[in-house]
Amino acid sequence: MKKFLKLFSYSLLAIILAGFTGLYIYYHSFSAEQDNIEINSDNLKYFHESYNKSRQAFLTAVHEAGRKFNNIELSEFRVSSNVDTNLIMDLCYIPPQQDTNRLLVLISGTHGIEGYTGSAIQQMFLNDILNEEIANDMAILLIHAYNPYGFKYYRKATEFNVDLNRNCGTDNSIFENKNPGYGDLYDLLCPAGKVNTGNPKNQFFYLVAIWNILKESMATLRQAALQGQYEFPEGIYYGGNDFTPQTNYLKKTLPKIFEQYDLIFAVDLHTGYGEWAKLHLFPNPEKDDYVRTATESLFEGYHIDWGDSDDFYTIMGDLSKYLQKVNPQALTLCMPFEFGTLNSQETFGSLVSIHRMILENQGYNNGYKNHRNEIKVKNDFKEMYYPSSEIWRSEVIRQSREMLELSIGHFKDIELED
Ligand SMILES: [Zn+2]
Repeated sequence: MKKFLKLFSYSLLAIILAGFTGLYIYYHSFSAEQDNIEINSDNLKYFHESYNKSRQAFLTAVHEAGRKFNNIELSEFRVSSNVDTNLIMDLCYIPPQQDTNRLLVLISGTHGIEGYTGSAIQQMFLNDILNEEIANDMAILLIHAYNPYGFKYYRKATEFNVDLNRNCGTDNSIFENKNPGYGDLYDLLCPAGKVNTGNPKNQFFYLVAIWNILKESMATLRQAALQGQYEFPEGIYYGGNDFTPQTNYLKKTLPKIFEQYDLIFAVDLHTGYGEWAKLHLFPNPEKDDYVRTATESLFEGYHIDWGDSDDFYTIMGDLSKYLQKVNPQALTLCMPFEFGTLNSQETFGSLVSIHRMILENQGYNNGYKNHRNEIKVKNDFKEMYYPSSEIWRSEVIRQSREMLELSIGHFKDIELED
């Protein structure tokens, strides 16, 4: 009996250890990639490896469009910086070629590093989608590299750590928002000192996080971490203490364009959230039934994640909500496109994602223990927002082409309610 008990407890220990090791290996080698999808190599030409090349390709595509359409206006806004004098947000406005009350807006680089993909989609739009019929039916505004610093230096936030999708609003009241849940998670979200990926807190981050999930709930944690905060400038999802210069520029420029139209459709292009290589329609919740129904009619046949699923969270100071208020007389329909990378709609993928964000932010603010740490953290971060996978890139273009064609087609049919 004694022998049996001994054997039993050793076996149990071995199983626990194996489980523990398995979890450890799974976490540290996590990837959501699939390899059973065909690549369309023509789709890859829109992706570039530097901000300058992406910008140049965008400007070339605008130039090409300028041969076909009249009166294209290109304006640039130079974003002030302590380290770089060539950080530019470009606005390309194509006035309607015939009389219309419709405006289409496409935005890239709200989260800087996500701009590589956003820019690729804008170039594809100019090359493959924009035709005479569309240009007659609607005006077009392309905002390229809202956050050029983050774009160029592979960061999500700006040089001053501001998340531009938490920095928008019609007035300054957003900066008064409090997020007490964030303060409770401060040690987890903003670790002190230099990044050391080898320390136990990082090696077993998922256990610390799971412990927090058991104490609270995944929904509470996700909400606190992601909704945005205005108290900790060194923290992730910091919305700033004032509007950034480029936000102020948009607040000055957009009303003059938006006021000419009473039907506006805006798409803000993002990456990093959701199932790998899949386009998610992921808006903030919409209380107005009319706006909600009109938005759904643009994407007929596709699922819109309005916040009825488990992975739902709301955010403050986001660009979409602001755009909806620019012209109060107009019906403005906004849709963030999110291209998933790490299956963050699931618990494990969301832990890997938030861990990568925390480490990159910690490194940016506090530095790294050594060069090896820095390379690893930056590479993991880049793979999360700008995957090197050709399948992923090809799918992004294929799906965004399909979704833009569909929604622009429906946008032409939408009529204002009397
Ligand atoms: Zn984003």
